[in-house]
Amino acid sequence: MVIHMNGRAGPPGSRAGSSGSPAERLLDRLQGVKRTAPDRWLARCPAHEDRHPSLSIRELDDGMVLLRCWAGCEFGQIVTAAGLQPADLFPQKTIPAGETRRQRIGKPFPAADILAAVANEALIVGIAARDLAQGASLTEADIARLFTASGRLMKASGFANG
Ligand SMILES: [Zn+2]
Repeated sequence: MVIHMNGRAGPPGSRAGSSGSPAERLLDRLQGVKRTAPDRWLARCPAHEDRHPSLSIRELDDGMVLLRCWAGCEFGQIVTAAGLQPADLFPQKTIPAGETRRQRIGKPFPAADILAAVANEALIVGIAARDLAQGASLTEADIARLFTASGRLMKASGFANG
């Protein structure tokens, strides 16, 4: 479901379906989007009454999207309010086996970025745990995503060491 409440018409074709990047999928569903840097945006948070853009969006090198609402909305709330699933905000492509992200990019990551990424991964695990606790079953894609999360969490400390 996509509602363009600000009257903005969707671009024809280019962003249809799931072909866009995770950031594009999200930005398409937000209002008041303003680009502040090549990989950063501000937008009105869909999860609370947000008159001034207080949601900061950041796209990482591997396509992962980090969200921070200055009003304190949680990642899952924001994603759900935008009409997406948390898994929609993670890139579908995986890094080929044997090639680490650090090798691919060739530089270490700032610790703050790694912590933010770890927080996102931890949230994915938490959401899955909650779903299970509520009696929902996980799809194969969910389970695959959890394995990705655990792999990223295990690698995170290595990234920080540069
Ligand atoms: Zn919010």
